[in-house]
Formats: sequence, C-alpha cells, structure tokens
Amino acid sequence: ESMHSAKDGEEKILVSVRVRPINDKEASRHDVSDWECINDTTVIYRNNLSLSERSMYPSAYTFDKVFGPDCPTTQVYRDGAKAVALSVVGGINSSVFAYGQTSSGKTYTMRGITHSTVADIYDYVARHKEREFIMKFSAMEIYNESVRDLLSADTTPLRLLDDPERGTVVEKLIEETLGDWNHFQELMSICEAQRQIGETSLNETSSRSHQILRLTIDSSAVEFLGKDKSSALSATVNFVDLAGSERASQALSAGMRLKEGCHINRSLLTLGTVIRKLSKGRNGHIPFRDSKLTRILQSSLGGNARTAIICTMSPARSHVEQSRNTLLFASCAK
Ligand code: ADP
Ligand code: MG
Repeated sequence: ESMHSAKDGEEKILVSVRVRPINDKEASRHDVSDWECINDTTVIYRNNLSLSERSMYPSAYTFDKVFGPDCPTTQVYRDGAKAVALSVVGGINSSVFAYGQTSSGKTYTMRGITHSTVADIYDYVARHKEREFIMKFSAMEIYNESVRDLLSADTTPLRLLDDPERGTVVEKLIEETLGDWNHFQELMSICEAQRQIGETSLNETSSRSHQILRLTIDSSAVEFLGKDKSSALSATVNFVDLAGSERASQALSAGMRLKEGCHINRSLLTLGTVIRKLSKGRNGHIPFRDSKLTRILQSSLGGNARTAIICTMSPARSHVEQSRNTLLFASCAK
C-alpha cells in the first residue's frame, strides 16, 4: 500500500492551495472572484495586472495540488493530506497544516481532514487484525507562546520539557486512549468547547491561536505481543490549524506594539523559516527551538517525518494582498 512508501526520497513537503467560494459577506458588498484554478495544479490571477504589478507579482502559481471553490473537502483530503497523514499507521510521524488569513477556510478544511483521517485509521485498524493498535488523542492550543490543554478545563499554561528519548514533551498534557468513533466525536466537541471558553474568558480569538490535535498510534504484531519489540511501531500525526496569517505579514510592517502580536508571529514566522529550510534540504541549522509551535512539532517535522501544508485563500478581489502573501508562503514551502 502506498501509505507505507514514505521513505523513498519523498522528503519534499506536499504543498497545496485551496480557494474557497465567495461568501455572502463578500457577495453582498459586490466583491468579485479574481482567482481561477485552471487545472489541478495551477491557480491564476485573472484581473489585469498593471505594468508595475506585472513586474512584482506572477499571475500564475503552480503547486502540488490546487483545489477550486467547488472542490469538496473529501477531495482536498484525498489529494492533499491522506498519504502524509496515514503514514502514521506505518510508524512515520507527520503533520498536516492549514495556513491562511482569517476566514479563508482553515478550520473548515482541518475539521474535514481530521475526520477523514480518523475514519480511515479506524478502517485500517479493522482490516489489520494481525496487529494490535492503541490510539491516543490529545489537543492543545498555543496563544501568546503559552500552551494549554484543550481536553482540560484548567487553563494553566503547560510547560515544555526536554526528554532525552522523546524530545520535547508537553508536561501534563492529557492523552486520552481513543475508543470508538463516538468517543472521538466526544473528544472533538470537548476541544471545541474549551476553545470557545478560552475565547471568551481569556479574551483570545481563534484567529490568534494555533490549535494542534494529535493522534499517537502504537501497534505491534499480535503474535509477538510483549515478546518481540521489533514488530512495534509508534508514531504521531498532528493536525495544525494555524493562527491567521495576516498576523505574520503585520509583523513585517512597522509599528508593532502588542506583545501578543510578537508572540503569534514568533510561532508563525519561525514555522515559516523552518518550513523554508526543510524544503531546501535538511542540512544546516533549523531553528526549531525558536518557538513553542516548532518545538512541539519538531519530531513531526524534521528527519524522517512527512508534512503537508494546505494554504487556504479567499478568491475575493478585496483580499488580493493577503492571498498573494499566502501564495508566496506556499511557494517558499515547495
Ligand atoms: P478560518 O478558520 O481560516 O478563519 P473558517 O474555516 O472558519 O476560516 O471559514 C470561514 C467561513 O467560511 C466559515 O463559515 C466556513 O464554513 C466557510 N468556508 C470556508 N471554506 C469553505 C469552503 N471550501 N466551502 C464552503 N464554505 C467554506
Ligand atoms: Mg479558524
């Protein structure tokens, strides 16, 4: 099965772009769609570029995959995330990111992808009775470089510790052993509720925080259970709904005041640097330790791990600047 073929030179990061439909708010102010996916790898800017713009911006952008406004999330999953996410059952760590400005469709896309992945993993487990699987689920949010548990009502920040064997671990993070599909749904609603409580009581908004849902899968061949460690596999897949990328571009502009802005950008900007360096080959220093997000994800980003990034964007003319920033980020990650 293709999900096991992660090692053979496929170190490249899988980068795709999803253009959502124009929404009611945009339509009501007579905004128009300026972006068109001309095939499954290229998106073009249709509005005429002035001469000076033409020297600054490309009008066509090509990626591993491009998904247009009519494309269902199941297809985004199938072509943009599945192979990466399911490598977890073969013992390979992975991360799937949604990157884009606020309201571009990150959460919408990640929810569907998390769902589809877990459904496929349950299916895989059911078809592989020769192995025994233990699945663990955890969830956290990073806001202001502070980490909290989304499975707990306790909002005390969690510390990161360096474990000689496991690398960076999030101290006291709840890991729930995953039962049936209903249990998974329950855990997802707990996360959602905690996220919303955070938004009101901690005065944060989802546009400023990074959310990480993580699934760890341990498995071993049934006949060797407890006898032969060589059949044992363990890996983690991370689903990362990033803070709105408009924060990252704001950081580059002058007059930054909020500490908050700084920190958000630290995780998002460090991620950008890490991804750029990884995509150019794995030599040299990669600054994983410069932010909480990249520290937490280090073992699922570097080395043998696999990565998929889905960049989401609005097709609206009014968002052209942010859309170009997103496409630039996506181009640097290729
Ligand atoms: P973000 O998480 O990037 O801020 P959301 O995922 O919350 O954005 O999306 C903003 C709104 O647009 C939501 O109401 C969502 O349901 C809708 N939406 C996003 N992407 C799509 C899509 N591909 N098709 C239909 N509706 C979408
Ligand atoms: Mg969101």
